[in-house]
Amino acid sequence: MKTNIINDFLQTHDGIEANKILRSCVHCGFCNATCPTYQLLGDELDGPRGRIYLIKQTLEGKTPTRQTQLHLDRCLTCRNCESTCPSGVQYSQLLNIGRTVVNEKVPRSISQKALHLILRKTFLSPLSFSTIIKTGQIFRPFLPSAIKHSIPERQKKVSFENVTHDRKILLVPGCVQTSLKPNIDLAAKIVFSKLKIECLEIPAAGCCGSLSHHLNAETEAMQIIKKNIDSWWPLIEKKSIEAICMTASGCGVAIKEYEQLLADDSQYAAKAKTISVLYKDPAEIVAAELKNNKLSDIRQLIEEKQAANTYNNIAFHPPCTLQHGMKINNLIEPILSECGFTVNSFKDKHLCCGSAGTYSITQKKLSQQLLSNKLSNINKAEHDVIVTANIGCQLHMQSGTTTPVKHWLELFI
Ligand code: SF4
Ligand code: SF4
Repeated sequence: MKTNIINDFLQTHDGIEANKILRSCVHCGFCNATCPTYQLLGDELDGPRGRIYLIKQTLEGKTPTRQTQLHLDRCLTCRNCESTCPSGVQYSQLLNIGRTVVNEKVPRSISQKALHLILRKTFLSPLSFSTIIKTGQIFRPFLPSAIKHSIPERQKKVSFENVTHDRKILLVPGCVQTSLKPNIDLAAKIVFSKLKIECLEIPAAGCCGSLSHHLNAETEAMQIIKKNIDSWWPLIEKKSIEAICMTASGCGVAIKEYEQLLADDSQYAAKAKTISVLYKDPAEIVAAELKNNKLSDIRQLIEEKQAANTYNNIAFHPPCTLQHGMKINNLIEPILSECGFTVNSFKDKHLCCGSAGTYSITQKKLSQQLLSNKLSNINKAEHDVIVTANIGCQLHMQSGTTTPVKHWLELFI
């Protein structure tokens, strides 16, 4: 489509990128067909094509309004539209640019600012988050069901003894998962160790930066990302690790985006690119090892636990960050099938479950509608367990069902 972006903005890195992306859109509207918010609200401006148009108008000089901001806020950043678009429009990159410009021009209400600040302070402080969760877990039986469902039961930690292997990866724990579901990373360590890969950790490692980024705190996000790069870099420089990995695909996709976010930073651009290239989802690592005839090694874990007997029927929900963000499709299902599980499909697997980072808090109504649709599709057949690859989706889905919801790596412990 033709563009007429304000000249000053067109001189910036974001201006050049936005112009390129806008011009690649042919306005065909195919993307609307797979957009969850368009499906729910039926409003052109709550679909990707409409949002692209709103961003275009803003970058061309039209003053955005609260309504413009709301249409952009309602986007889940699920990137389903990117998977559908025949022209390869990089929608999420454009949305990031559009949101930043709109947020500079449309001040947030005091209540929104307060909510964003509380979310950032709570999630970014591992100590206060862990204290809140531990206290919530103690009083869980007495809490009203709406709050109770948001706090997972305390997980009894599985034991794991580290064994040194020549092959090493950096396993980044993230900010909240260790308090909520410590066994997910332990499961990763157990599986990788079986595959003769050792997981290194950097104790000070925290958030990947996506929380601040999605809550419009760009400066804070960049500080976090640069701090991560600085603390990971010595391992990379010494070639001590062959990959960086996180068990939450929502964080993984954020690391994949470091390259793009720091492309303009003379000090960090090259390092960010190296890190994004080095990042691997656990499924990519396990699938590559299975090609190297390591199936029997991890099957042994399943057989020891008799997990395949306990969980005969599995529904696998692929997080949007995995299937649309990192374009990792049909990798986990074959791993699970080869390990003896029966993995069943269900309708609308490509649609978001409504979790989407802090979306389940900031856009509760839409998030709950998406959750209800997701679970009703999954529950059309009986499953022993629902598995996924992202802590956010896992907890969000668990809040709406009595069927256990696990990370797929937890099936191995
Ligand atoms: S983003 Fe892609 S699918 Fe959507 S209107 Fe533009 S070209 Fe068409
Ligand atoms: S990212 Fe998801 S919610 Fe946002 S416009 Fe694209 S398909 Fe719709």
